[in-house]
Amino acid sequence: MKSVVEFMKEYFELRAEWSRSAEKAWDVERYGTGYRVVAEGDEEEVVVIEPVESGAQVITSSRLKNHDRRWRTRYQLAPAEESWQIARVENECSICEGTGKMNASECEVCKGTGWRPL
Ligand SMILES: [Zn+2]
Repeated sequence: MKSVVEFMKEYFELRAEWSRSAEKAWDVERYGTGYRVVAEGDEEEVVVIEPVESGAQVITSSRLKNHDRRWRTRYQLAPAEESWQIARVENECSICEGTGKMNASECEVCKGTGWRPL
């Protein structure tokens, strides 16, 4: 079984390659729905990997070339044969900055979860 670390490394590399190529279509069957367009100079690194009931959850931290702020992305991974597949991708809620709270109450945009589907 491929480790989550290995899978994410492969995913980052492939995604960069796919983003540079107009001919290649993302292999949804093999890698799941987690395709994001990345540009040369964008950075994304794995911050935490946690086991969850459905497989594993990976939280990354990204910084796009022309932005100062970093933000987090959460990938839900499901086991697929000897590897993994990305079942779901969510970004940190930009309204509450991932806290789930607005002033003293629940953030209405992400319903208090701090995450929004990509
Ligand atoms: Zn929110």
